[in-house]
Amino acid sequence: MEKKIFEKYIKPSRRIVIKIGSAVLTNARGLEKELIHELCRQISALMEQGRQVVIVSSGAVAAGMTKMPERATVHTIPEKQALAAIGQGLLMQVYEDAFSERGFKVAQVLLTRDGLVARRRYVNAKNTIKTLMDWNVVPIINENDTVATEELQFTDNDALSVLVVNLAEADLLVCLSDIDGLYEEDPRSNPNAQKIHEVKEIDQKILSMAGHGPGRAGRGGMGSKLRAAKMVTSFGVPMVVAGGKKPDIIHAIFDGKADCTVFSPSKSRRIFGRKPWIAYALERKGIISIDDGAVCALLERGKSLLPAGVTDVSGQFQEGDCIVCVDKNGREVALGLSNYSSSELRKISGCHSSQICSRIGRDSVKEEVIHRDNMVTLD
Ligand code: GLU
Repeated sequence: MEKKIFEKYIKPSRRIVIKIGSAVLTNARGLEKELIHELCRQISALMEQGRQVVIVSSGAVAAGMTKMPERATVHTIPEKQALAAIGQGLLMQVYEDAFSERGFKVAQVLLTRDGLVARRRYVNAKNTIKTLMDWNVVPIINENDTVATEELQFTDNDALSVLVVNLAEADLLVCLSDIDGLYEEDPRSNPNAQKIHEVKEIDQKILSMAGHGPGRAGRGGMGSKLRAAKMVTSFGVPMVVAGGKKPDIIHAIFDGKADCTVFSPSKSRRIFGRKPWIAYALERKGIISIDDGAVCALLERGKSLLPAGVTDVSGQFQEGDCIVCVDKNGREVALGLSNYSSSELRKISGCHSSQICSRIGRDSVKEEVIHRDNMVTLD
């Protein structure tokens, strides 16, 4: 890791989300207990230095499979959920033992995507995690696989980590994986592939470097890590991808000696309050195109979006749903909560605010399509 990157992003970090993938935590025989103990020792050392750590841990399904070898080839969703339910307890037991060796306590937090859509529940989850951190207890977070449905689940724990970075208001995300960084080509098929040590911008070239699909045990893969990196870096948080099975990896990262990939934040701004919830917790229900004048009003003048700037509406959404605004080239410029349903917005797009009432047949309406307070810009 370059000294400059270490000094800027890793050394000053105080609150860290460490995501550990299934392939790191398990082998074909079950949970890699000794390795988990070793990682927990290193995480304890970070906490002893005064840092706060939240763990996002996969491994429940994989641990369940090794406990139930006769079921290891099952594929239906209820069967996988049953394996997660069996494995989650085993996983927590190992963390409990490992952290208690160093005098730390752990807490299990299971989240679902739709459970966080209601703002009140999002805030409750945030307060719980904050309280645990204030008490110096290590939150160990996984998806609540039992109740997650295919359409509503986090695609994988990389996506869950993005949300956790915001729930915890963390300043660094570390993903420990079976692959020790981003390579120009998939190192599983080309052993001579070169590693990229710093990624400043996640463009098409970088996206094309992700190997196809996850490895042996988990649901993620490099593609999902890049999607996670694009989100966290765009809101000002750096992300590290490192090899979770490498000896002393966490010490190496925090000593600036790790051979890994660092995604540097694309801007220094962080978003607070309701905005991370809008950006991370909500499903995006529709896309609207906006003209150049509106792009400039949103990105440069900090204005709300008015109907006059909307040129096209796609998708079906209701008032209060999260929608994405794109420019004429399809580039995402902002997202936020719509004050209108898709059918209403089709009627008022392009029109002046004074015409809204007559077009949709209501006496009083909101002037803005998306109010500034409910908007996150993506410039
Ligand atoms: N929640 C899943 C588990 O604990 C992991 C999902 C993933 O691999 O990203 O097994």
